[in-house]
Amino acid sequence: MQTYDFILKRISSQTGLDEKEIEKRVDMKIAKLSGLISKEGAAQIVASELGVGFENMDLKLAEIMPGMKKVNFLVKVVKVFPIRSFNKNGRDGKVANLIVADDSGSARLVLWDTNHIRLLEEKSINEGDSIEIKNASIRDSEIHLTGFSDIKKSSLIVSEIKITSVPLEKKISEVRQGENVKINGTIVQIFPPKFFLVCSECKRKIVKNEEGFFCDKHGKANPIERVLLSFVIDDGSSNIRVVIFSEQIQKIFREEDLKFEEGFRRFKESFLGEELGVSGIVKKNILDGSLELNSNDINILKIENFLS
Ligand SMILES: [Zn+2]
Repeated sequence: MQTYDFILKRISSQTGLDEKEIEKRVDMKIAKLSGLISKEGAAQIVASELGVGFENMDLKLAEIMPGMKKVNFLVKVVKVFPIRSFNKNGRDGKVANLIVADDSGSARLVLWDTNHIRLLEEKSINEGDSIEIKNASIRDSEIHLTGFSDIKKSSLIVSEIKITSVPLEKKISEVRQGENVKINGTIVQIFPPKFFLVCSECKRKIVKNEEGFFCDKHGKANPIERVLLSFVIDDGSSNIRVVIFSEQIQKIFREEDLKFEEGFRRFKESFLGEELGVSGIVKKNILDGSLELNSNDINILKIENFLS
């Protein structure tokens, strides 16, 4: 919720509207888009409608959101991956991936410009260096730099960093059990949601007996309902079943609507064939031994289209 609060405060300070009023507009926006957008995404649209931008702002890594443009960072280089070459539509190119961090978290930084990549090749920028980034764009949860962006070694030192687990981007055919990965693919099949009750305190499964609900840890428990949804995504190399829970579902759809057949039908219509990026841990399904992804982050690639 850090990002959402950040946007609310930003809109409020720029427009003079109070946060309650802004939240009302955010809720209206979510309703208008049939719940197909996260609170953060909706807040971002409200911001742009009110003429509030994030351009030229110095941001912390915990504050980044898909679709942000022309934003700045002061971060430390934690890891530089080998530079990759590619050939797309007959054009040769290079791409460099780094992990960067500040005191709020860490993120993947992707360089596309040959001048920027040269800084790595010539060892002008190395692991451990503090760097300034200007004019960056955010795609999914990654920072992307183009020829219009700037990257340089900073005289300011980032001393404190917080490493949040940054998933490895992989093809589905390459994922292994236990890995934290990010995959991009198209939803090709969606299974009906499953609802279950958990303890309101520890969010673990509870059992029902004649006296009521019972949690192993908390005894008599307050039940809350959670939902699990699974679907299959395909990236051309292979496919994998993805499992998402309430927190992730809420980012892309109104969870309550899934309780009704009509709502689930609308969910299927909206998301079948949709391209998305999912991150999570690869687990082995207990029943059939196949690999599946327990998602802890999900991004619909079309949210960016709402913003442009
Ligand atoms: Zn409990």
